[in-house]
Amino acid sequence: MRRTQLRIALLVVPALVGSTLMAPAGAEPTGSTAPPGPVRAHSDDPELVRIQLTGADMLDAVVAAGFDIEHGLTRVPDGIEGEAVVTAEQIAELEAMGVEILDDDEGFAWSEEADGGIRALDGRAVQTFSHEKTVRIARADWFTTKGQGFLYVEARTTEGQQTNPIVTMQLENDLGAGTPFGFARTMSRFVDSGQYMFHRNLFKLDARPNQIQVTSSTGGVATGFVSNWLEEGAPPLTADPAYKWDFVDGYKHPQQLYRRAEEIARQYPDIAQIVYLPHRTNGYQRKAQATIGGTGQAAVVVSSAAWGHEGGNDLTVEFVNRPGADLPLAVEVDGTAVRVLLAKNASGALASTAAQVAEALRTQSGGLIDRAHPYRTNAGTGIVQASTPVALTDFLDQKRVGAPEGEVPRGPATIPVLRIGKHRDGKKPGVLIQAQDHAREWVPATTTLETAERLVRNYKSDKETKKIVNDTDIFLILSNNPDGANYSFYNFASQRRNLTNHCPDENADPDRRNSWGVDLNRNYRVGSAHDGYAGGSNSCVSDTYQGPEKLSEPESKNIIWLVERYRNIKFMMSVHSNGGQLFWQPGAYIADGRITTPRPPLRDELFYWQSAARILSQVKAHRETVVTPENVGGSSDVLYSSAGNVREDMYHTYGIYAFGWEVGGSVYNPATGNWQGGSFQPAWVGNPDLVSGHAETMEYANGIMEMFRIAAEWGKDKKKPTSWLVPGGGKYSGPVDVRFESSEPATIYYTTDGSRPTFDSPRYAATEFREPGQVFHVTETTTFHWFSVDTAGNIEQNYDPSKKDRRNNYRKATIKVTR
Ligand SMILES: [Zn+2]
Repeated sequence: MRRTQLRIALLVVPALVGSTLMAPAGAEPTGSTAPPGPVRAHSDDPELVRIQLTGADMLDAVVAAGFDIEHGLTRVPDGIEGEAVVTAEQIAELEAMGVEILDDDEGFAWSEEADGGIRALDGRAVQTFSHEKTVRIARADWFTTKGQGFLYVEARTTEGQQTNPIVTMQLENDLGAGTPFGFARTMSRFVDSGQYMFHRNLFKLDARPNQIQVTSSTGGVATGFVSNWLEEGAPPLTADPAYKWDFVDGYKHPQQLYRRAEEIARQYPDIAQIVYLPHRTNGYQRKAQATIGGTGQAAVVVSSAAWGHEGGNDLTVEFVNRPGADLPLAVEVDGTAVRVLLAKNASGALASTAAQVAEALRTQSGGLIDRAHPYRTNAGTGIVQASTPVALTDFLDQKRVGAPEGEVPRGPATIPVLRIGKHRDGKKPGVLIQAQDHAREWVPATTTLETAERLVRNYKSDKETKKIVNDTDIFLILSNNPDGANYSFYNFASQRRNLTNHCPDENADPDRRNSWGVDLNRNYRVGSAHDGYAGGSNSCVSDTYQGPEKLSEPESKNIIWLVERYRNIKFMMSVHSNGGQLFWQPGAYIADGRITTPRPPLRDELFYWQSAARILSQVKAHRETVVTPENVGGSSDVLYSSAGNVREDMYHTYGIYAFGWEVGGSVYNPATGNWQGGSFQPAWVGNPDLVSGHAETMEYANGIMEMFRIAAEWGKDKKKPTSWLVPGGGKYSGPVDVRFESSEPATIYYTTDGSRPTFDSPRYAATEFREPGQVFHVTETTTFHWFSVDTAGNIEQNYDPSKKDRRNNYRKATIKVTR
């Protein structure tokens, strides 16, 4: 007979924390042939400003309107702060949308008050454990960076959603074991998309507390022990004098990256090869264009049929006012010269409208012009004015100031994947590192190249490197957006997307050219904006444009091809800059109700946290850069919803552990006592202690090497997990709180009705996201049956849940409650 589970109340008890752009270098190029009138003024150069948004809804609206405000965004208690690269005109538009433009000294800063020892102790004692509590501590993390200590706390109240009145929370800490709590300070309430998340704060402290206490305004209290966030003083990989590193000497454009990848494959054929991705990009190429004939309703936007470099740039278009009256509209073509003979009325005045001229060009230019239309949303009712011959241009030869020397190849690119591994037979765990989906993010590409160099050059001499190369199968995409990256290097530094222009006529004029392209990290299938998830745009001029359909772009099709072709790929890192974050799933939600993509089960969540701590400890070891715990976790929890990102597709479709990394970002500056923000293209040398492309490349390459080690260990993991109840089976004189622990991240399947556990049994879960496992409040005698499965698929005690055998060697424990 099946017994009910109802007698086990799942109570929320306080879990004791055991937590295991720069602005473009040059002005946007302005077309020499663009007429003065119809074009939206681009007279002022874009500048970098700091902005504050009220929340995710405003972020969505602003991004949908085409503003460039991705990355470097920070959640603050009353919204989101970030940076935007905008013109003065766009600043006015932002302000009209309700966005606040911040002065240098404005904005949110973590409180520096209540430093340990400044205020008097209030001598309150540790509260006793009680089930009536409405407060849980999710994290209490201590770390130091450059000599300064910090305490980061996340705590929840079950009354957090309540708004009348809003529940406030106070945090106190002790000064070490056995000392009383004190230094009360108010925590910040974090609300996202209308949902209460938790309260949290980062505080400077001079000494590490042993415990904290959080008290809510409604009387809830929780205490918890402080954990260390990241290893203290671990030696970096790069401390070993025999270890070879520091191979990259500056930013690299895609041609340089790909050439070096091919060289590496030639130099180290026993451990490296190139896999060419099958879908060529849509190309570093553009149609040659001009806007001609007048202003407003009289303007005609003209685009060549051929790409600029394939003849489009040779074309001229002239609008001719012939002498006489009663003349029809006609088009003459002489070689590459297109002459539009404008119509005249009976009194000898010009009489062709922009719409008529556009149609004549499309149909009578001998195929030279295949796209011509009125400007933006105009109907083209104005009378077109005469114009001397205008040379069409693709604008790609107009280099931005500071662009690297050399000619950029025009046309589609084939993306090489540098595959490194001694045994590239599909039997070793594959790790995919994908850099520079976003064109302007230059440091991810150099970081990935540095890891490639370290792998091949240390293979023979360094034991750890040898292990990695022998035990993994590494796939490095040094730049997944070569067309966009070239545009970022040569034309428009702030380019984020690829170069595919999906825009209809109203956004197809050349003054929109820096706003075209698909955000490759919004073009995937899971949690897509096409399915209503937030953070991807349908506007072809938005910086988060998701594309006309899922996987519309060759660059994203390639990733799917790669993981389907190489099924051994089990780990993935999508490397971005410059947020100072490391995250995983969930990465997207439906805004109404904040419904996320499925949260990873507790096992994967723990594995992600464990891996993150290892990776980030290696980053920290290099020069004390700390990615703070508030910036680690499900990306939609710590950053924002990004619909259709690659990580969701990798994890949910293929079961790949898929990380997203925002390298760079804030670093603590002990001279000012503040965190200093990063940049997409920091000076390569810069300030080597703060923001520097070189330093970021080296420290984050350390982290990627650690990720390889995690994959190698995972591949060799034959060790079965063990799991147990805390406290264990036995006699108890009253109700007892019980939870599971395990020797490593593992999914625990359990029953309490006497049946044998199977893969269909309930899974042991987290109390809430970003919290440890749930606690069962057992009020009468209960027998638990369970088994656990680790991330590599090993099952505890070799139990086979799929078939009944006589051994039934799952785990068992009875909690006997006597009264
Ligand atoms: Zn990015």
